[in-house]
Amino acid sequence: MFKNIAVIRGDGIGPEIIEQALMVLNRTADLFGHEFKYTEVDMGGCAIDKWGEPLPQAMLEKCTSSDSVLLGAVGGSKWNDVPAELRPEKGLLKLRAGMGVYSNNRPAKIWPQLADASPLKKEIVDKGIDFIIVRELIGGIYFGEHKTVGDTATDLLKYSEAEIERIGKIGFETALKRNKRLCSVEKSNVLDSSRLWKKVMHRLADEYPDVELTDMLVDNCAMQIVKNPAQFDVIVTENMFGDILSDEASMITGSIGMIPSSSLGAGSCGLYEPIHGSAPDIAGKDIANPIGTILSAAMMLRYSFNMLDEADCIERAVEKFLDDGYRTADIMPIDSKDLTVVGCIECGRLITENLTK
Ligand code: NAD
Repeated sequence: MFKNIAVIRGDGIGPEIIEQALMVLNRTADLFGHEFKYTEVDMGGCAIDKWGEPLPQAMLEKCTSSDSVLLGAVGGSKWNDVPAELRPEKGLLKLRAGMGVYSNNRPAKIWPQLADASPLKKEIVDKGIDFIIVRELIGGIYFGEHKTVGDTATDLLKYSEAEIERIGKIGFETALKRNKRLCSVEKSNVLDSSRLWKKVMHRLADEYPDVELTDMLVDNCAMQIVKNPAQFDVIVTENMFGDILSDEASMITGSIGMIPSSSLGAGSCGLYEPIHGSAPDIAGKDIANPIGTILSAAMMLRYSFNMLDEADCIERAVEKFLDDGYRTADIMPIDSKDLTVVGCIECGRLITENLTK
């Protein structure tokens, strides 16, 4: 199969981790007889330096005309002083909106090999952590009007029934493919937009009688994720709540460097990226963990290209890397004698070597 993949290396550790994911993709293509063509796209700080804006229209078009997009990360303190509308993160918002990817899917799953890396108590981890956060990605407060008049600033949080319904359906469909439990998270005791959210979710529930729907207030959910994460199967929530809860959920699984994500809209073209940022503090030191990016590439094969065996093959290769006792610095326990710490490049090489049909 031939696929055209738009590749955004971005800033900070972005280029380092993307390089490893491309190596894994190339080997997977060889093993399974596919051809992946990579179209390089400038986005973020590097695009500001080169083109004067974080995502020029021509770059966005390269993404929307591709079969899917693989992104490293963007941003860094170098661009802190550029005007708000030109910041690197604006490129990311423009990309998500331009691609129409309204559904962000972030798994929070603990790898048994990394159970010690979770900051939670062992008895909580032992009950299991394996849930997915489905986050609305192109609406809500991040996309509402932002305004500062004098000494007062406002940000508008707005959702329509149609916007809630389309992400709600993704939540129910995701639950159907898993353990059929969906938790809808909102703040309906305070916000009108959340009351609408709850109403639409319960209306949708009639279409999915096999899924058990529960409601939870976002502040309680933040607490429950650390108190009893095993209770969750699928969480569906709006943009900002999902942003915050998914970072919290990633941390309890050990390291932010391990977690992939997919963002999809109406078609099969998706945006795949690790959930972390550009980590400027470790950029260029060959210590970044590329596994979140490599697993994002696996998600791309599974969800956008329907290459299920190929995705399994990549995930098995990551598992073997961990089973063989290798760790990048971020997932290395302080006092372990049995494990070997490796850099970003060596991690990519070992995982590539592990790929077998
Ligand atoms: P960050 O995720 O970049 O880093 C947080 C901490 O996690 C740092 O200590 C970092 O070293 C560590 N870390 C992150 N990824 C790692 C990896 N793969 N391996 C090992 N350690 C890793 O968050 P931040 O420091 O708040 O943000 C840095 C920049 O990234 C900012 O400009 C921010 O706006 C941007 N950002 C971009 C994205 C994106 O491109 N999708 C997402 C979040 C933040």
